[in-house]
Amino acid sequence: MKPINTTCPECGGAMVEGFLLDIAQGLNLPTSWVEEPPEKSFWTGTKVKGKEKLPVQTYRCAACGFLKSYARAKEEGE
Ligand SMILES: [Zn+2]
Repeated sequence: MKPINTTCPECGGAMVEGFLLDIAQGLNLPTSWVEEPPEKSFWTGTKVKGKEKLPVQTYRCAACGFLKSYARAKEEGE
């Protein structure tokens, strides 16, 4: 995987790795990127079964607060 440039594109400050938190029914979960537009589901709110899901990494600039997110596919051998 290519290394991520952790310099803020807005101000040139240092970016810190983290993630955006989803809180659902008392569980703390990292946000995921899901392929395709959202479809409503009676049972779960939004259909995600059978769709590609990737974990989202979000970097925050310590100087200005700018957020930059990546949903990177895993490559072979990692
Ligand atoms: Zn910045």
